[in-house]
Amino acid sequence: MKAFVTGGAGFIGSHLVDKLMSRGETVTVYDNFTSGKQEFLEQHMNNDNFSLIEADLLDLDTVKKEIKDHDVVFHIAANPFVRLGETQTRLDLEQGAIATYNILEAMRLNNIKKIVFSSSSVVYAETPDISIPEEYGPTLPISMYGAGKLAAEGLISAFCGTFGFQAWIYRFANVVGIRGTHGVIVDFIDKLNKNPGELEILGDGKQQKPYLHACDVIDGILHGYEHSNEQLNLFNLGCDSNTTVTRIAEMVVEEMGLKNVEFKYTGGKRGWAGDIPRFQLDASKMNKLGWKENYTSDEAVRKAIREILDNL
Ligand code: NAD
Repeated sequence: MKAFVTGGAGFIGSHLVDKLMSRGETVTVYDNFTSGKQEFLEQHMNNDNFSLIEADLLDLDTVKKEIKDHDVVFHIAANPFVRLGETQTRLDLEQGAIATYNILEAMRLNNIKKIVFSSSSVVYAETPDISIPEEYGPTLPISMYGAGKLAAEGLISAFCGTFGFQAWIYRFANVVGIRGTHGVIVDFIDKLNKNPGELEILGDGKQQKPYLHACDVIDGILHGYEHSNEQLNLFNLGCDSNTTVTRIAEMVVEEMGLKNVEFKYTGGKRGWAGDIPRFQLDASKMNKLGWKENYTSDEAVRKAIREILDNL
């Protein structure tokens, strides 16, 4: 397989690259290093099967040139910061919708037909039932980030319908693990390093979400890719369990060996505008294909905290 991985220098993308390289695949990473880091790819730099292109997905001419001669595109790049949409309203339009259009158009012009896409559970927004299957609809996101993801899914589906593409779309739960550069665990560790006596927690701490370890996500992405062959393969990638934000705070405090930390809640059921306070993804479609997470949500969080602290 000759794989083109957008966002391959990021948290999830670099784990995917590690896995593909360990299987002996040929991999090109296309990344502009806005949130990715070259150090995540250092181990592959001298491998003949590996190439790194530092460029932006918004530069369609470069995407068209570099994507040539690949068999499959893993489109992982995006703005990963959901909250930025509150202040930068064009960001997810460009990094979600336009960047995905550029990838699809470059694929079409180079006759590449297979795309694997990292979407998110945020496309569902708030649902009456908290265990959400893929068929749930209408999907009406409440964040700019969610809108960018849903627009990207729509474009991918349109390129399948119009140009005979084949796609694997994964709606991830929250992903945690080593190389994580953002999200609740990183935020708590940063805050406690600055002030070990007090921790600001966004919302009321009761937000309850499934956390999936990066190693389970990568296994899931490749398992679904290898075991489903519809034209458009849509999967939730989550775990059966979930963890509250206060529980994450307690685990971070324990793992940092701190005592008597005062939790200060900003209040309200959401951490920020567009936050989904409670959800659970129904991953039974992936489970039926033979994939199951190795770590529960609490285990994934605990493991990620240890990994991140060990690498500070
Ligand atoms: P990340 O920020 O670590 O990775 C994103 C990568 O994309 C970075 O390396 C960044 O430099 C690159 N990138 C961004 N814009 C680019 C552009 N215009 N051109 C080229 N490269 C660009 O984030 P992550 O957490 O690894 O997320 C990876 C994907 O998974 C994203 O699409 C994200 O929306 C999705 N996702 C993540 C989570 C999570 O919990 N981390 C949950 C659901 C979905």
